[in-house]
Amino acid sequence: MPYNDDEWHGRESGCEKRAPPRPSLEEVLRLVDAPERVERRLRMTDDQRIRCHKLLEGFARTAYRVLEDEGCEIAEGIYVGGSFGRRTALNYKLDADIVIIAEDFDVHQAQHDYNNGALNWHQGIVLDGLQQKFRRGCEYVAGSPWCLKLKAGEFLRVDLIITGNPEWTHERHRGFSGADSQNVDRQILSFAMRHPEYRALVLVAKHWRNLDSRATGITSYHLELLCMEAVRQCGSNVRDQFRCLLERFASGDTAVNNPNRFNPKVLESGRRVAADLADYAAETLDYYRRHLRPGNRTACPLCGERRFLNGSGAVAHLESGSCVKCRGQENAQKTIYDFMGGSRQTQQYLTPMITNGSHGHGSSGYQAYQCTHCDRTFAKLSALMQHMQDRHQKTLHALGF
Ligand SMILES: [Zn+2]
Ligand SMILES: [Zn+2]
Repeated sequence: MPYNDDEWHGRESGCEKRAPPRPSLEEVLRLVDAPERVERRLRMTDDQRIRCHKLLEGFARTAYRVLEDEGCEIAEGIYVGGSFGRRTALNYKLDADIVIIAEDFDVHQAQHDYNNGALNWHQGIVLDGLQQKFRRGCEYVAGSPWCLKLKAGEFLRVDLIITGNPEWTHERHRGFSGADSQNVDRQILSFAMRHPEYRALVLVAKHWRNLDSRATGITSYHLELLCMEAVRQCGSNVRDQFRCLLERFASGDTAVNNPNRFNPKVLESGRRVAADLADYAAETLDYYRRHLRPGNRTACPLCGERRFLNGSGAVAHLESGSCVKCRGQENAQKTIYDFMGGSRQTQQYLTPMITNGSHGHGSSGYQAYQCTHCDRTFAKLSALMQHMQDRHQKTLHALGF
């Protein structure tokens, strides 16, 4: 693919602008029963993906060339991964990893340079090369001994990781963890293939994190591992999995096995980060409990929202006038009433006078519905449904329930 430099030098790339506005958590929770809708709403778009891919390729090629010019040997090419590679990047916050494994990388020297406030030799060469080539399109944000945090093309956050191969030095060190990221990404990708709802859960979890500063202490990678556990342990729907994840945070537990061979075996947040997460998670569980409570599997027949315990709950939602597909209380109640009058099977639940055509459904409080077992009357269909269930253990079949 030919690389066009100028495309990234403009002040406004337009790439993030083209993303839909960041949704509220409530909006996303309304979609969780349809994981593909969550993905469509939150995931990096194809257009963004193509633009990011071009830019990352340009960065990787430049880094490779400048290191090679300095006589540095690069092992196994350059790997582009992270959220971008795992296809779990959010459309309003694009991030990716570039991993370079240099044969002469010295993890102790890198730590030493960092402690002295300097970039290490490899980082200096790569950053110089990128800034010469991309000018404003490569902005240095922060660094660590093995990672340059860059902003690329003004819209993409890149972790440029330069590390060595611990198999050459037979040494375990955190600084080598980047060398295993390709292997780890592959494991996560294969998990996502086997569990189609996994990506939707990750997107919801990352979005949740981004909405509150108390959650910024946890990395995307750590979150993705915790999401894998939630998928394994908490059933097959995103709602239950997300609730499990929040309950876990709320209890202060963030520990998860780390599949990275060169990193500590268990990944766990520090006490402060865990406490902030616990606070935020408990608040979310409380505030969104009607969206998150278990067992609510019944969907509204009009808007498809699935958060009702049973048919009468969904009908009550319709009758309240709050359904987005059937606005207004009066309008909704009239629609339901007309529907019930439309077939012989459902007419039996209307009070007789109305089926004779002598009354309309206009007056509020009018007892339009009647129980077929005890003749009690009700103003709302949902109340009749609830009554028949509670009193007679009978399910009223109407409106698709
Ligand atoms: Zn609805
Ligand atoms: Zn009854």
